[in-house]
Amino acid sequence: MAKKEASEAKASVRLYYEISDGKVKLKNKKCPRCGSVMAHHLKPVERWACGKCGYTEFVSGKK
Ligand SMILES: [Zn+2]
Repeated sequence: MAKKEASEAKASVRLYYEISDGKVKLKNKKCPRCGSVMAHHLKPVERWACGKCGYTEFVSGKK
């Protein structure tokens, strides 16, 4: 199983994912505003939300 490292342009989306043994694992993402660990939500849209300061970052890149 080879890793694809050629597409660096899409690295920002995959930055918080870790693929091991064919399974996708989420990495903890830190809030850029206050530094707290952000929560990942899938619905209604995929996004990261900080429960501390309310910062929300939407995950784009899906087509
Ligand atoms: Zn925050």
